[in-house]
Amino acid sequence: MKTVAIIGGGFSGTMTAVNLARLSDRPLHVVIINTKRPLGRGTAYGTNRVEHLLNVAARNMSALPDVPSHFMDWLRSRHEYSSTPEVELREMFAPRRVYGDYLRGLLASYLNPIDARCQVKLEAFDAEAVDVVVNGDEAEILLANGESVEANQIVLATGNQPPGTFKSSAPLRYDPRYRSDPWDDWLSRLPPPGGKVLLLGTGLTMVDIVLTLADIGWDGEIIAVSRNGMLPQSHFRGIAYEDYVPDDAESLGLGGLRRLVQTHCDRLQQMSQNTAIAVDKLRPHTQRLWQSFSTDEKREFLQKDAALWNVTRHRIAAAIHNKITDALDTGKLRVIRGTIEGLIPGEQRIEVVLRDSDGGEIVESGDLIINCTGPQAHFSQTGLPLFDNLLSKGLVSTDDLDMGIEVDDDFATLNEDGEASTLLYAIGPLLKGSLWETTAVPELRGQAMRVAETLLQREPTPVDQGDLIEYYI
Ligand SMILES: Cc1cc2nc3c(=O)[nH]c(=O)nc-3n(C[C@H](O)[C@H](O)[C@H](O)COP(=O)(O)OP(=O)(O)OC[C@H]3O[C@@H](n4cnc5c(N)ncnc54)[C@H](O)[C@@H]3O)c2cc1C
Repeated sequence: MKTVAIIGGGFSGTMTAVNLARLSDRPLHVVIINTKRPLGRGTAYGTNRVEHLLNVAARNMSALPDVPSHFMDWLRSRHEYSSTPEVELREMFAPRRVYGDYLRGLLASYLNPIDARCQVKLEAFDAEAVDVVVNGDEAEILLANGESVEANQIVLATGNQPPGTFKSSAPLRYDPRYRSDPWDDWLSRLPPPGGKVLLLGTGLTMVDIVLTLADIGWDGEIIAVSRNGMLPQSHFRGIAYEDYVPDDAESLGLGGLRRLVQTHCDRLQQMSQNTAIAVDKLRPHTQRLWQSFSTDEKREFLQKDAALWNVTRHRIAAAIHNKITDALDTGKLRVIRGTIEGLIPGEQRIEVVLRDSDGGEIVESGDLIINCTGPQAHFSQTGLPLFDNLLSKGLVSTDDLDMGIEVDDDFATLNEDGEASTLLYAIGPLLKGSLWETTAVPELRGQAMRVAETLLQREPTPVDQGDLIEYYI
């Protein structure tokens, strides 16, 4: 019996396994190897805090691309949503832990199938995969606990890289006042009332932490720092607006695309509408546009446009936006602009040295510093054994910006000579450099199904896009 091993058990790995199990018409052994984050839930849906909400409306969170109402139907089956009016349920931003329950439930039904005729045996191991040894048509995955898993095919679904590091005058790794990973426990390290929490980054992770501090009624000062000081924007009710991206948009280049988007932002402004609508309209085209850019254009986009893109594209529920605005208005949260130059552990607090846009130095300090700057931007520098080994053996190759790894159209990884593997596949945030938008459920559910179909060598299932193309709107 063929074995498919999936490394990573967040949304991407879980849904690859679920699709293999539901689509296979012959016996198959599927193994999920997962560590650190809760199986099925991963980083995003592993939170146990009720104030952490999805940033995509319920109507667009089905985990199955061929069953668009799947998540809505599941929500309806829960007593707390059974009488919620349809329009309200569709637009709801559910707690992320509820979405985690949904994924866990899906996985559980294939881990322990009720139907004895189910031909797929699905198993999950709690272990870190550290290496892959290829022996002809098969491979062995070595685990950190000394054990190994043999597989005929492997899917890398390892999610986002862990956060990057900062220059520091002393090792911060064991300093209880510093949290390098915002998804590890930091609540137990909170300073007493009147203390100061300093958040490095002003994106979605910062928002999560500010919400939790407000929810528990923590009485202290919160400072968030980032290069541009931009905060995620709020979801809003949009209007029907023309699909203005031409079929040959690939020929525009970054400069041409910027001009086109600006024209539509101006037009929307004249109509007193939110200019984010112009950015939303790019969404179905993002991956092909990104792929049409030269390496220099991609680099320029990352330097000049990506921050604005992120706060505009990855918006937050209006209720959450209101809470952040309240925290700013009441002075509970202060945002400082500056480039982080280094961290200095002092006797009382850790000092953060920033450089402002005029070259001036700003020094802020915190009793607790949490790194909310997002995943490590350079794939080759994660220092993770699995990635280091795959790279040193030439089994995978980095994309031109070292943001992740290269795959072909079937998600087969490309080796150091650019040849597609028949054994190793990858989906999810690992493909950021190749696809740019490959982070959220609306993209990942399609990838998880397509990679499963490739592994099963099935024709791709036609997917009714319906309202799915409205993505985050
Ligand atoms: C805080 C947060 C909120 C988000 N909210 C939304 C939202 O509302 N809607 C939306 O569409 N998207 C959201 N996203 C985007 C989110 O990234 C995707 O929806 C999705 O959860 C990504 O899943 P993944 O499986 O690719 O990665 P992950 O969830 O990161 O899972 C990867 C798993 O692989 C494990 N792993 C990694 N390396 C190894 C190894 N060597 N061996 C074994 N296991 C390994 C990890 O520990 C982890 O458990 C959010 C992201 C974050 C971080």
